[in-house]
Amino acid sequence: MTTLTDIPRKTTKGTAFLIEESAPQDIFTPEDLSEEHLAIGHMVDEFWANEVEPNLPAIREKKPGVALGVLRKSAELGLTGMAIPEEYGGMAMDLPSLMVASEHMGRDGSYGGWHSAHTGIGTLPIVYFGTEQQKRKYLPKLATVEMLAAYALTEPLAGSDALAARTRADLSPDGKHYMLNGQKMWITNGGAADLFTVFAKVGGEKFTAFLVERSFPGVSSGAEEHKMGITGSSTTAVYLDNVPVPVENVLGEIGRGHVIAFNILNIGRLKLGPGVSGAAKNVLTICLKYAKQRKAFGSAIAEFGAIQHKLAEMAIRIFVAESMAWRVVGLIENLMSAAATESEDGSTRERKAIEEFAAECSMVKVYAAEMLDYVVDEGVQIHGGYGYHQDYAVERYYRDARINRLFEGTSEINRLVITGQPLKRAARGLLPLFEAARAVLQEAEAQPTKAACDAELSLVQNAKKIALLTLGIAHQKHGAQLEQQQEIIMNLSDIIMEVFAMESGLLRSRKLTAAGGGVNAADACAVYLRDAIARVELSSRTVLSACAQGDELRRNLFRVRGYANHDPVNAIALRRQIAGRLLANERYTVCGTRSEDGISHEGGSLALTNHKFLLAARPVGMPKRSDWTYTEEPVAEPKEGELLVQLLYISLDPAMRGWINETRSYMPPVGIGEVMRALGVGIVTASRNPRFAVGGHVSGSFGVQEYALTDGRGITKVDPRIAPLPKYLSVFGMTGMTAYFGLLDTGQPKPGEMVVVSAAAGAVGAVVGQIAKIKNCHVVGIAGGAEKCRYIVQELGFDAAIDYKSEDVRQSLRKHCPNGIDVYFDNVGGAILDAALAQLRLGARIVICGAISQYNNTGPIVGPSNYLSLLTNRATMKGTLVLDYVDRYAQAGTEMAAWMAAGKLKSREDIVEGLATFPETLLKLFKSENSGKLMLKVV
Ligand code: NAP
Repeated sequence: MTTLTDIPRKTTKGTAFLIEESAPQDIFTPEDLSEEHLAIGHMVDEFWANEVEPNLPAIREKKPGVALGVLRKSAELGLTGMAIPEEYGGMAMDLPSLMVASEHMGRDGSYGGWHSAHTGIGTLPIVYFGTEQQKRKYLPKLATVEMLAAYALTEPLAGSDALAARTRADLSPDGKHYMLNGQKMWITNGGAADLFTVFAKVGGEKFTAFLVERSFPGVSSGAEEHKMGITGSSTTAVYLDNVPVPVENVLGEIGRGHVIAFNILNIGRLKLGPGVSGAAKNVLTICLKYAKQRKAFGSAIAEFGAIQHKLAEMAIRIFVAESMAWRVVGLIENLMSAAATESEDGSTRERKAIEEFAAECSMVKVYAAEMLDYVVDEGVQIHGGYGYHQDYAVERYYRDARINRLFEGTSEINRLVITGQPLKRAARGLLPLFEAARAVLQEAEAQPTKAACDAELSLVQNAKKIALLTLGIAHQKHGAQLEQQQEIIMNLSDIIMEVFAMESGLLRSRKLTAAGGGVNAADACAVYLRDAIARVELSSRTVLSACAQGDELRRNLFRVRGYANHDPVNAIALRRQIAGRLLANERYTVCGTRSEDGISHEGGSLALTNHKFLLAARPVGMPKRSDWTYTEEPVAEPKEGELLVQLLYISLDPAMRGWINETRSYMPPVGIGEVMRALGVGIVTASRNPRFAVGGHVSGSFGVQEYALTDGRGITKVDPRIAPLPKYLSVFGMTGMTAYFGLLDTGQPKPGEMVVVSAAAGAVGAVVGQIAKIKNCHVVGIAGGAEKCRYIVQELGFDAAIDYKSEDVRQSLRKHCPNGIDVYFDNVGGAILDAALAQLRLGARIVICGAISQYNNTGPIVGPSNYLSLLTNRATMKGTLVLDYVDRYAQAGTEMAAWMAAGKLKSREDIVEGLATFPETLLKLFKSENSGKLMLKVV
């Protein structure tokens, strides 16, 4: 394996931290990541912005093939082969690289599910346990995602107790196959996977892993499950009905499937740490921005102590979770290098090293998952009512987060491992835990604790003593039966995990301080260690009270109290300082400087930042990213008469292509260096205009940016209680109005007439067709692709659809409009307009709404070649412009709202998250990739 990092070289054993001391330089921290690791992070970020983010809405809607398509693109960058050795087509990256990728992929649970199930639990069983033949056969296909992988362990009656599986494997009479029968549940990637690692009992007894291809007869998937969160990941049951699996597809040894199952879980538990930290950091960023812009009682809520407490505490817990996870990565890497021998390959050493630190992996999983739940919960709280609304990203993060406490073994199962592993090792003489516990008991009896000169180090040392003392007393009381006392085990695990958390945070902070930084980390530790020892004391008291009574109990509690005693710090002031630095940076930071403490500086750290796209060059043909400048600036305060709007959704329209040409159309062009013009809806965050109150929602032309200052002219109030905000950019917005007035005013359709519309599945076209149906016309839509044609006929009620990508449009128009077209609503121009002109009926009206097929021409626009058809049919061709109808929007809106309420009018929106994706997302319009009204979700 390629080792990119200079990992600190002290090796130790699993859970030995309880009885050993470590120095800051002994542990690995995120700050030790190499340039190469950071480059992997940047690559994933770029991939995310360009490929994942634009597809997230479709992935969340489970649109067939989208997630898999993105996953295959990630394979082109090597992201699916990182753990696969080079000889099998992979990149053979080291563990820190995998963890970096996992953190940067942690932004969305839906896509993250596809990616991590394939690259982790799907692929790793073969990497770690496959035979040479199995590796050669499957790993290259998994690296390229020619095959998608899944891991099938859980069963309806065997969840946490996986070894209770009922799926059977019986050797066929000819000895060539194992016949598998049973059912698996909650299988991530289950709906699309080509290769499953399936666990079954040979002869109903010997728990064994098998490599099962979907193409084997008798393999089938259930329907997609309806989950609380991560709705875009695929989760199904998998059925095995007499599936013949070749004997050479047994993975590992017969009867030793548990070794595979547990090892794969260990690495999954560790990877969950960075993945979850990635999500938590995103939530914190969202909350920092929100807290700065949201005003209450005349100030930004970021100025309130209660909010600063939450922001700081979120960062503190992220810091600690991150410190734990990377420390374990370092422990594993150290052990791997120390155990390097000729006879074992890198994968085997890695697996064994991870097994050694199984308890630490469980601690990472439990702590990180609970940290994320805290962060998302407070994230919703900071957003108030908005946090409970699907328009705000924290709502989704809240639902997505919950699975992490169930994934990779529930937190309860992992707590059993956290205490169970050191106890087992101690019982087998591999870890002198009981000796250390006895020493603490004797020390505690002999003398009270002395005040140490290093207060924070002594908090960690004393927490270890409480852990040993409590473990020792619980073990004295229950002996080998301790494992049966689950409440005690849960509390002991909390103590052990907290000790590891305290020490990891402190050592990392000290390492940062030694390198001349880490002010936020130091303040975080000062707060965290004191809170943590109080929690340790509480858990210890709970255990001790169950192990003794009377004087003995009082003596034990007195000892613990002695260890837990500490001098307090001003945690309120420290959290405020932490929050001040976070707000100044608008993101999670461990470094920080004392000069960034200025939460109370006038207009300083609380200044908002506005990200925006400026036009950098006039595009030739399709616009490129280099035609834009993505820049940021501080947000100015509104002057008298102005209001500040924070954009929530930005409309992306074909007309934008015309606005960036040199020539004036119905509007002057956007100038070079100007903010790109765009319609949007947002929330008023500050106002010195009496017409607009803070907290109200508005729509208008605000530009492609996060914040817009406006004097209120041309701005309309909108009400999210009447319709979701995106609808004010689609059916109740410019495109809906275009359809309404273009069809009814310009097209003048009469009942029974034949109406044809192009770009019929798009924002304007879909509404045109539905209104024509409401007016009792016969409606034919022209759209690109079978899915869009299905949508307009089956879901919108068009009479017929023509797929211009696979049909001859002229011929199909003749078929569907044998008596000719009365109204043709043209959105596309070019060859489709020619085809419609060729099929007109006497007195036909052609509505020229747009000509998207011509917008990116590098030469002049091509007009209709057969316009004389207008003459022969005494037809009219007339342009329509929505802006001419502004005064009548309200009237149209009322009528369309009634149609919607009656179920006669539907609209669908294609919402892409992230302002930064603007250049690529805009192109979806011209590549026929949008399904419905295209818009960006900004917050
Ligand atoms: P849209 O239809 O939601 O999206 C554009 C669609 O155009 C694409 O999804 C694609 O659909 C189709 N398309 C793209 N390139 C094409 C090509 N070369 N040939 C044929 N079809 C192509 O966009 P919209 O916002 O509703 O706009 C539709 C039209 O209305 C545009 O021409 C726009 O300029 C015009 N418009 C005019 C006014 C006005 O006041 N006059 C106002 C708004 C919009 P397929 O997948 O079906 O190919």
